[in-house]
Amino acid sequence: DDDIQREAVHAAIEAVADRLVAEKAYLTDLDSAIGDADHGANMSRGFTKVADKVEELDGDVGEIVKTVGVTLVSEVGGASGPLYGGSIMHASQELGDGLTSETSVAFAEAYLDKVQDRGNAEVGAKTMVDALTPAVHSYKKAIEVDDLPPLTALAKAVDAAERGVQFTVPLRARKGRASYLDWRSVGHQDPGATSTLFILEELLAVAEE
Ligand code: ADP
Ligand code: MG
Ligand code: MG
Repeated sequence: DDDIQREAVHAAIEAVADRLVAEKAYLTDLDSAIGDADHGANMSRGFTKVADKVEELDGDVGEIVKTVGVTLVSEVGGASGPLYGGSIMHASQELGDGLTSETSVAFAEAYLDKVQDRGNAEVGAKTMVDALTPAVHSYKKAIEVDDLPPLTALAKAVDAAERGVQFTVPLRARKGRASYLDWRSVGHQDPGATSTLFILEELLAVAEE
């Protein structure tokens, strides 16, 4: 019912915020190699604000998730704020009927579409899209084709995202700040792909509880 879903979303947001705060230095290191060394600060500040904000909210799941997006857009500048925040805002429309395996697939697809639409990055451009795309495809296939439970599907998404993060290492960046480095970006792991993986790992951890 509604209360249980709201509790689950609150728990997920808190877990994500805690993880991103814990990984702040690591994400900053990654971004200092191929960017401007702020991805850790951006993500930890953004999600800490989100966690504070949603604590007071008692709307339905779609409204709570929409607030997550709105808050990220207003708190996090740069490339990642509008990409994460705007896409979460957009995808939250898919949660009108609450959180089910169907609406979760619709949310994931809408989120990916919006990230690609806004950032205009293909797979292989060395961005968050490289972790997100295989994760969303694996999740959708696991649910719609293989008829697996959402938890198993989410575990597959995490595995796919993990491979996506590794896949970014040898790539030459074609989008975002890292692209200014051109060939010098080769050999470094993309920060945004990494934060995407951390978020998915936390969603899985909360779903497993
Ligand atoms: P900024 O680069 O503005 O400092 P962040 O450091 O917070 O913003 O985020 C950097 C991350 O944003 C990159 O590691 C990459 O994953 C992601 N990113 C940058 N540009 C794009 C884009 N056009 N499409 C998708 N993701 C992008
Ligand atoms: Mg940066
Ligand atoms: Mg920046």
